[in-house]
Formats: sequence, structure tokens, C-alpha cells
Amino acid sequence: MPDRLRLKAGLVLAGSDLQPIKDGAILIEAGRIAAVGGDDGVPHPEECEPHDLGDVTLMPGMIDAHMHTFGVDSTQLHLLATEREPYRAARALNELAGMLRAGFTSARCLGSTIGPDVRRAIDDGLAEGPRLKVAGGFISSTSGTWDSRSVSLSAARLSGEVADGTDGLLQAVRQRVREGADFIKLGLSKGGVHDRYHAWGDDPLRQVATYSLEEVAAAVEEAHRNRLLVSAHAIGEEPVRLAIEGGVDIVEHGYGISPETRSTLAAKGTIVVSTISQLHFHRAAYEAYRYPQWERDVYERHWTIMQRDFKLGLRAAVRYALGTDLIGGPTHPLHEAATEFLLAVEWGMTEREALRAGTMLAAEALGIASQTGSIEVGKAADIVALNGNPLIDIKAVKNPVLVVKEGRVLRLTSPA
Ligand SMILES: [Zn+2]
Repeated sequence: MPDRLRLKAGLVLAGSDLQPIKDGAILIEAGRIAAVGGDDGVPHPEECEPHDLGDVTLMPGMIDAHMHTFGVDSTQLHLLATEREPYRAARALNELAGMLRAGFTSARCLGSTIGPDVRRAIDDGLAEGPRLKVAGGFISSTSGTWDSRSVSLSAARLSGEVADGTDGLLQAVRQRVREGADFIKLGLSKGGVHDRYHAWGDDPLRQVATYSLEEVAAAVEEAHRNRLLVSAHAIGEEPVRLAIEGGVDIVEHGYGISPETRSTLAAKGTIVVSTISQLHFHRAAYEAYRYPQWERDVYERHWTIMQRDFKLGLRAAVRYALGTDLIGGPTHPLHEAATEFLLAVEWGMTEREALRAGTMLAAEALGIASQTGSIEVGKAADIVALNGNPLIDIKAVKNPVLVVKEGRVLRLTSPA
């Protein structure tokens, strides 16, 4: 395969603001974008594989700023505590291959003990998948976000995901560093004592904070010392304030908050990751998977407040990155990640805003905005070709005909 590749297409969305170039072309050399512009202005080197893709749109590869490489059946998450990791990794890698074929060239795993090894297998070229940035295991307080009471506390501690006190948090952060985490994930909100849906809480407006400010600040300081960003699962006023005051870099979910907290997020430019798909796919599965009524009620409460706050957040100029919080099949398949773009537009983003939130801003959340997230000279050639123009009809993101990751063509079907 030649080291050079030239893609020609009816439309190219170039630069960080996705400027449409009609009859555009992209020259790729050694996995990087060497030139982009109108077809006339992009050179035709001799040793070069040309692809005239016809009437398609080339846009940056999509980036999911929040997903999980769990590798267990999504309807049986209790298996995370017992299922063997080799099986989980095999299952996760299969799902990640589907995600890449769906146009996602990068993704951020917000908690899974197998994340670092799954990332390594992809980086080593042993398996196909998006470029991953991973948190490794969650960090949760005793009784916190992911400390499930369905297993004994001693079993929960064995996972290494439960940490308390500033010393415990320092140790947990250092363990993640040792395991190869790219960033740190803290759980800062949970439901009350008798909530049946403990991890997310029965009600987004009645969330309990899981750590003291001192504990959060200690974890953040240690992460930053190691040059890692910190993400927090935070729903509800008190937990989101705790994230902001504790110095957390990126807020996951981030709804159920006051106007004042919304203004603070906007003024600080903190990225909030959208995660609409998580609830959308639960709702889509109610009937087929026979969700009990109480659980549907919980998701409906979250759905209402998430939608309300997303719209208010857009008006307040909160910086949203698109992330799905998909966890795998059968209910939350990773290859459906592009649905987040459609949901974001349904909830009030313009097509261009949604495309930027799922490329440039998501790249920023992954800490790789200088390397990918837009079609610009010098960046990695992470590109997806779509049937249709997503600036006019966002549904086009569901129709990739070709995916390029670091200059490697991963799928090529003849455009319709
Ligand atoms: Zn998540």
C-alpha cells in the first residue's frame, strides 16, 4: 500500500469550523493530512493511491467522548464483578470494531478495568477499533457511585475501585497511573440510601455527593501532578458544584443544576459531556427487555431534566462535547454511537454545533485536539465519508461509506 493517499469528494468539511469546500480533496502522507482544499489546489503526487469518492461528504472521524469498554451483556452489569477479563476483552474488541466501522476514529472509555489492555491491543494493531483514551477502573467512595451493594464490601474492595479519604484517593490515582490510565474518572454523585437505582439515583434533583471537597481536591492534585485530566460523573447541584470547586476538568452528565452553577460552567469553559444516548437506548429497550415500571420512572425523570438542562445549557453557552455513555449490546451497542448527533440536534443544537461537539470538542475532552478532531494539515488523517451532507441533514452521520484512521482505509463501499 502506498504511503500516500488522495481522496476526492463532492464536499469536504475542513478546518475546526467545518468550512464546506465543494469538489474538495485531501492528500494524506504517512497517516497525516498533507494538504486539503479544492480539488484543483491539492497536489497529485506520482506515487499516490487516488480515490475519487464521487458525491460524498468528507468530515473528521467522529469521536465519542464518553463510552465504556465493559465487554459484558448490557442487561447484566452485575457480571462486571465476576466475568473473566479475557472474555470481556474479546467481547469489547468485537464491539469496538463495529464502532470504528460506524465512523468513530477515537473514543474515551470512562471506566472499565480492561480499558488499558483493550487500548493496547488496538494500538498494537492486533484488533480494529477507535483510538482509545481510557480511565481504567472507576474511583468510587464506599457506598459511592459504583459501589454496588449487591456484592460484599470485601469483594468490592478487591476490584480496586473503592477509595476513601485523601490517602486512599492518592493511592487510587497512583494505581490508575500504574495501570496506564490516560485520565482519571471519579464518581461524585449517587442516589440516597434507599434509592433502588443507586448509581444514578432515583431522581436527578435529589442526588447525594459522594466525597468531601478535600478528597476531590487531593485526587485532582495527584492526577494533575501526573499530567492527567480528571473527569467526574456528576448529576445534581451539589455534586456538580463539588466537581467545579474540586478542580475537576470535565463534567460527565452535568444536569439537575441551578442557573448559577450553569453560569459558572459556562464562564469557566468547562466541557460537559452530553450522554443523551444512554437514556435514549434505555427508553428504546423498555418493552423488548421488560424493564420494570419503577426503573422506567427513574429514566423518565432523568430524561426530562437532562433535556431541560441541555437546552438551558445551550442558551447559556455551556461547552458540550458529545458522548454517548454506551456500554455495549444488546441494549446499548457501541456501533450506534452516531445517534448522539441526531439527539443533540433534536434537543436544539444546530447541525454544525453537533458536528463540532462530536469532533473538535470531543477531541479536546480526550486531550488530543492538537492531533485530531478536524481536517487540517498536520493532523492525523481520521476521516469519514458520508452519503449526504450532515450540515443539512444530520442523519447522514449514520451512513458512512468509508472510514480512514491515521491514513488507513478501513472500509470502502461504493457510494450510492
Ligand atoms: Zn458512563
